[in-house]
Order: sequence, then C-alpha cells, then structure tokens
Amino acid sequence: TNVLIIGSGGREHALGWKLKQSKHAGKIYFAPGNGGTAAIGENVKLDVEPVNTKNAEAIDYFCRQNKVGLIVIGPEDPLAHGLADRLQRDGRYVFGPVQAGARLEGDKAFAKQLMRAASIPTAEARIFTDYEAAIRYVENHETPVVVKAAGLAKGKGAIVCDNQEQAIDAVNRCMKTREFGDAGNTVVIEERLVGQEVSILALVDGKNIYVLDPSQDHKQVNEGDTGPNTGGMGAYCPTPLVDDAQMTLIQREVLVPTVDAMRRDGITFQGVLYAGLMLTAGGPKVLEYNTRFGDPECQPLMMRLKGDLFQIMTATCDPKGGRLHEVQLDWDKRVACCVVMCSGGYPGKYETGIPITGIEDAESDPDVKVFHAGTKLVKGELVTAGGRVLNVTAMGKTLKEAQEKANAACDKIQFRGAFFRRDIGNRVMK
Ligand code: ATP
Repeated sequence: TNVLIIGSGGREHALGWKLKQSKHAGKIYFAPGNGGTAAIGENVKLDVEPVNTKNAEAIDYFCRQNKVGLIVIGPEDPLAHGLADRLQRDGRYVFGPVQAGARLEGDKAFAKQLMRAASIPTAEARIFTDYEAAIRYVENHETPVVVKAAGLAKGKGAIVCDNQEQAIDAVNRCMKTREFGDAGNTVVIEERLVGQEVSILALVDGKNIYVLDPSQDHKQVNEGDTGPNTGGMGAYCPTPLVDDAQMTLIQREVLVPTVDAMRRDGITFQGVLYAGLMLTAGGPKVLEYNTRFGDPECQPLMMRLKGDLFQIMTATCDPKGGRLHEVQLDWDKRVACCVVMCSGGYPGKYETGIPITGIEDAESDPDVKVFHAGTKLVKGELVTAGGRVLNVTAMGKTLKEAQEKANAACDKIQFRGAFFRRDIGNRVMK
C-alpha cells in the first residue's frame, strides 16, 4: 500500500522514515515534503491549502492513480479546515481527525468549554467575543493572565502577560489591531499558571487510547530558555518529570474524559490527541490541545518506536474504529534527544539557499538520525529553505548521553549562519 504524507517538516520526515521500515508500506509520497523526504520517497506538487473541493479532488485523484491507501496529515491547518473529512472514502485510511475533532486545537474557546463541562483540570478562564467586555475584564483583574486568540495563529496567539498594561495591550492586539485576523475574533483570557510544561501524546482510535511516553520541548530560541519563542528548538523523550503514577492520573483525568466528552457530542476522534500540560503545585493542568504529532516532539518518539508504524496508524484510523488493541507498540528503553539546527537570524529574518554539508558524517554514528525540516534539493545540492533546517536526533542510555551525541552530530554539519542550542534537556538534568 502506498502512502501520502502531507506536510514539509521534520515531523513528516520522521513519520515517513518510520513508515518506510514497515513491510506493509509501499512507495511514500510527500506533499510537499523537503530535501530529506525526497531521498526516501517522492515529493509531489499537490495544493493542500486552501482546503476546498478542487484541491481535495486533486489529492483524491492522485491517491487513486497512485494506489495510495494511507494518507497521513501532519500539520494542524489542513486538519482544522476539514481535509481529513474530504479525503475519507471507502477502504482508505486517513490518519488525522475530522474537522469536528480538530476543533479541540483550532478553537481554544471550544476546548475550554469542553474541559469545563467534563471537569478536566485546566486554567480558570473567561471567553470574550466583545472587545469592551474583554477590556473591562482585564482592567478589573489583578492577578496575571494569559490572553489567547481562540483560533489558529501559528503558535503565536497566546500572549503571556506580567501585568494589566500588557493584558490590555494583548486584548488590543487580538481584537482591535487584529494581528491574528479572524483567529482573534474570540479571545480566551485565563489565569497564568506556573510550572514545567510537558507534552503528553496519545493515539486515539475513536474509543480506546494508547498513551505515548511523555516528552518536553524547548520553545525559546536561546540557551537557558531566553529570547523569543520559536516553533521549537529541541525536544526529548521520555522526560523524567512525569512518573508512571502521574501518567495514569493524566490518562484518567485528562485524556479519557476528553475523548468521552467528544463522543458525547457525537464526535468520533481518531488520530493523535496531544495535551500540553503544566505541572502546577495543584497538579497537571491543560494549557492546550493539539490534534496531531508535535514538531519536534514527533522525532524522538519515532526514534524510540519499535513497532510497525503502518499497522499502528491504520489501526488508529480504521473507519470501523476500536482497532488499536490489535497492534503492539514497543519502545526502545533509551532516551532520544532532538536538537534543531536553525538558520542565522531565526525566528526573525534569515537567508535561504545556503548549501548544507556534513549530514552523512553526522549520521555515521548509528544512534544518530538527521531529519530534515527547512531544506530542499536544488540541482542535486542540498540547501537551506527555512528557519528550522535540520532536526538532529540521537539516542542515549541517558538524556545526557543523547544530548551529547546530538550536539556532537550538529558540530559535524555546516551551513553558513547555522546555530543550535546545546542545552536541550538541561532543565531536567542535575
Ligand atoms: P503552540 O501551538 O505553539 O503550542 P498556541 O498558540 O497554541 O501555541 P498555547 O499552547 O495555548 O498557544 O500557549 C503557548 C504557550 O504559552 C504555552 O506553551 C505556555 O508556555 C504559555 N501558556 C499558555 N497558557 C498558559 C497559562 N495559562 N499560564 C502560563 N503560561 C501559559
């Protein structure tokens, strides 16, 4: 069975790399893919956005022509716009939730209401569609808040405020100057929590869930977790911060009630359910849901997965539902650490088209795998094509060892302006 993976990041490269190891997977197509995915499959031109009848029909036609039986939708935008719904048809597996399920990520007001109704631990919040009311609320609210545009805003729609002045400014950015467009029509204003953040991902087959090992990412661009936020500078799995007892608690109090609450609303959720949690003094609380693999959290997970990803994915998204128990998921006991190599200037302005060398050398260590993100092949030469360029992922007996191997591998790779953080995972190491 051939596979089509939609997306162009390190996440999609990692998923393709793992799927390729399955004896059930045939040829792997990527739309649009990147310089790394071209080496394990074929990059194809298909318009994914906007999600409309014409584009969906073109993807559908491509899949019929090329015997694609499994479509994997990596990023959130096409899911939120209902691409999975449009591609589902008899006998085809589409990995990624339908639009109603993706709303958990795409609409923070919906997610908040669902959590409230199901008594899922989360930050106290108020939801506003009226600008004056939102301003009045923050003016009368003493304790620190986080102001969030309810819609998708490429990870930039949550504004963490230190004081009232900042909160007022944040409401203005969402609702007055409309920095996030329609995503800011509704804002969620919630209490600011303190604690470490962890990512808990689970596979959901419509009924049952299988919780994956906990991971953490580093969002800020500079070492010591300083500077502006990025799409993610690195991630590791498992994190020692969440023990088995806490995983059980999170499963029981967050993941299961989320899936149940959606089922009560008539939504069959299939795919990845990802809870971004803050470990507060009062226990784990949900900051946000995602409805897809995290990028870069996916890369360490794929490095550690020993089972057959093709079977795991088809069992998860089988239209019949309830098939997850049929597959075996085994994990490498070691720790995986992913370090993101970026273009100079990222997350601000950066140059592209810069030649990249040294990847083969970096991968000479069998415990290292270099997943591509912002790269492309131009006349056979690999060049940079984005801010986050490579996701250098290494396995080690300990997190320290994994980090050191990943850093050493990064040192072997060159492109002008390249930089990365050497301290991925330090916050949980002694
Ligand atoms: P992304 O999709 O990139 O994770 P997002 O725009 O969907 O981001 P959130 O994940 O809700 O927004 O928030 C982004 C970040 O803001 C969180 O990772 C966390 O660091 C911080 N944050 C969000 N909510 C809170 C909160 N209630 N208290 C403290 N910090 C918070």
